[in-house]
Amino acid sequence: MTVRMSLIDEAGPQHATSVLSIDLGAVKSNYKLLAKRAKKAVCAAVVKANGYGLGAEQVAQALTEAGCTTFFVATLDEAIALRAVQPGAIIYYLNGLMPGETDACAEYNIRPVLNDPGQLDRWAGFRFEKGVPPAALQIDTGLSRLGLTPKETEQLIAAPERLANIDIDLVISHLACGDTPDHPLNKQQRDAFAKTTGLLPVAKRSLAASSGIFLGAAWHFDMVRAGAALYGVTPNREKPNPMAQVVHLQAKILQVRDVDTPQTVGYGATRRITGPTKVATVAAGYADGLPRSLGNEGTAYIGKIAAPVIGRVSMDLMTLDISDVPDAKPGDMVDLIGPLNDPDMDAEAAGTIGYEILTRLGRRYRRRYIETAA
Ligand SMILES: *Cc1c(COP(=O)(O)O)cnc(C)c1O
Repeated sequence: MTVRMSLIDEAGPQHATSVLSIDLGAVKSNYKLLAKRAKKAVCAAVVKANGYGLGAEQVAQALTEAGCTTFFVATLDEAIALRAVQPGAIIYYLNGLMPGETDACAEYNIRPVLNDPGQLDRWAGFRFEKGVPPAALQIDTGLSRLGLTPKETEQLIAAPERLANIDIDLVISHLACGDTPDHPLNKQQRDAFAKTTGLLPVAKRSLAASSGIFLGAAWHFDMVRAGAALYGVTPNREKPNPMAQVVHLQAKILQVRDVDTPQTVGYGATRRITGPTKVATVAAGYADGLPRSLGNEGTAYIGKIAAPVIGRVSMDLMTLDISDVPDAKPGDMVDLIGPLNDPDMDAEAAGTIGYEILTRLGRRYRRRYIETAA
């Protein structure tokens, strides 16, 4: 099967020996699938951390083309950078309104998420003029990370006049265990969120991130905030992944050696070769964001054939057992992330999650933005 695709953009070092392909067509079809799942709720996109490492500008453009109008990022700087390329979008930033940030929110039409009573007062004390954007309010329902504590929320409900001068258009909370559907916290947080927001004089409500979308309509409220699933990460680690794969990472074989006398491979001599083995050294290592914990655990692929990582991952290199691909030679490419080893599989081998694999992807790759024909 040949896949039709068009090259949209290329960026990165000119002589890069590894290539990161990002399929914006897959991002679009993932957005459409999630928006359909969210039914009547608005599907917003989370593009923090440079679009989960894939390029916030390119990803946001693809999402806009797919119909997305509302974006979340983590910091005010990320929001300002996104505003420069998305002049018409609604942009919230999650980390909260820090001192000195109000003017920039007004200037760039960016909506802060207010995470504590001090931030509420800061925004209320801001001199409102025509055109100042509304803000969101975050309440904590069980993650104990950001947002008003249950006690602070109660106090706010008892003193609603504190909201009199503030235009809050959205209340959000975040699930702790959305990727584990049977976890009792999912229902607890949903019930707490429904109850509390019912007592606040505010407009729209949003609880679910990617995984929460798949918990069902009772978690959707007015808006869902999809992040990882847009980029192909599975929303439920217990079920087959319904998302299209976005990332393909290929690294070049620099050298091939035949080992026939017993010896060890790599730093620390953690892997002993005893029988005849073909070893390929490829151009990617932990400085490129590949977890060192993939050493002796990860699997690369050459076409459909597995090439296990042997020995430790070093800074710029890793070593593979390519004994099953006898004709592989320097200059050939291997898949470090591909159809047979997606980010979730690499993550499992490395003892982490797909989110971390994506957001650590390094700066030495040639980045190719492609769009597969749907
Ligand atoms: C990161 C984040 C999201 C997106 O989560 P995913 O699991 O990547 O979909 C949504 N809401 C908040 C508050 C977040 O921090």
